[in-house]
Amino acid sequence: GGFQAMGLSPSVFRGVMKKGYKVPTPIQRKSIPVIMEGKDVVAMARTGSGKTAAFLIPLLEKLKIHSPEKSPRALVLSPTRELALQTFRFTRELARYTNLNTTIVLGGDRMEDQFQAMHMKPDIVIATPGRLLHVLVEMNLQLNFIEYCVFDEADRLFEMGFGEQLKEIINRMPAARQTLMFSATLPKSMVDFAKAGLSEPTLLRL
Ligand code: AMP
Repeated sequence: GGFQAMGLSPSVFRGVMKKGYKVPTPIQRKSIPVIMEGKDVVAMARTGSGKTAAFLIPLLEKLKIHSPEKSPRALVLSPTRELALQTFRFTRELARYTNLNTTIVLGGDRMEDQFQAMHMKPDIVIATPGRLLHVLVEMNLQLNFIEYCVFDEADRLFEMGFGEQLKEIINRMPAARQTLMFSATLPKSMVDFAKAGLSEPTLLRL
């Protein structure tokens, strides 16, 4: 059961091969098929486990082609600028053989640039929660077309105090979406959040 057996589209498969990955990591082997079935997932996974590709590969499969009339369709929320930037670069690399557009919305960057970026109708937004919410409020934007939402390093998102902003962001998204939570730890606050924000999630631990 390598990447070959996962039934990826040629454009996504080529992106994975270009990264030089030979075999899926354990978290990828476990989570990618479940996510590709459309299930919500809570995955306990640390940095270094290959978690980023675990949620990006199904994301690219789900979106497939650039759809400017429905923007954005996927959202990845990261706790820090550094992680968001890293995930943004990774997304652009994996998506290089698709025509999907990715943008980044980060605290500390110019608001004007971010308004501009959102006007470009990206398919995928990688963001830190505080700044994303600020941009959405200022632009009077909903997130009506989100099909796929990832809370990356969810425990850190909470430690950093983004809980309220996450709720407000969730309120702007349709209920009929796929939601994933990746977290190194699973304290009670996270379980409660998962119950509220995810729908019958599959719990994956290694
Ligand atoms: P992450 O846990 O997402 O931060 O990924 C840690 C590192 O593992 C990154 O440098 C990835 O490019 C790399 N990686 C992810 N999946 C694989 C794989 N299947 N084979 C080899 N390296 C991988």
